[in-house]
Amino acid sequence: MKTLAYIFKNNEEWIRKQLAYDPDYFHRMEEGQHPEFLWIACSDSRVLPNELAGLGAGQMFVHRNIANLVQYNDINLLSVMQYAVDVLKVKHVVVCGHYGCGGVQASMGNTDLGIIDIWIRQIRDLAEQFKEELAELKTEVERVNFLVEKNVLQQIKNLKELPVIKRAWHNKQELYLHAWVFDMATGRLVDLKQTEQEQPE
Ligand SMILES: [Zn+2]
Repeated sequence: MKTLAYIFKNNEEWIRKQLAYDPDYFHRMEEGQHPEFLWIACSDSRVLPNELAGLGAGQMFVHRNIANLVQYNDINLLSVMQYAVDVLKVKHVVVCGHYGCGGVQASMGNTDLGIIDIWIRQIRDLAEQFKEELAELKTEVERVNFLVEKNVLQQIKNLKELPVIKRAWHNKQELYLHAWVFDMATGRLVDLKQTEQEQPE
């Protein structure tokens, strides 16, 4: 088996760099976290939320899954949401998809992916909902990226239905939802301009 010693070497190098830049870094990390952001992203290895947003350790609470989905039966996501909103009191929840998402692409095909097919089922429903718009797009890339955007917007709708969000807004907690997409080809973060603010009832 190939040794993974280089990971531990990298780790030592990272510690050295962090301390050279900020000798107090690890002491501060010990004191706890006060992130303003909860960032929901795809598990894709090319997406680096902290790096692309220029936010360091302690500034972003992160949840990731295939195709950045908000599913009502996902106890992992629901727990992350509750902790982020009720305990950490994050001000911003970002759903950040990415163009060229393999999960979204898979939902447009007929291949048998086993349990992943169940996971991405709601994107298939979305593709059905927008089939006329999709049919007008010429290339596969355009169709995938169209659906990537619609998928992010759908997840914002899903978030708005969560009791933890409704309760926060009802209690006038400052909380904004943002629909963003990361363009891997240029590195640019695209705002879909669908920010949802707190909505007192
Ligand atoms: Zn993806």
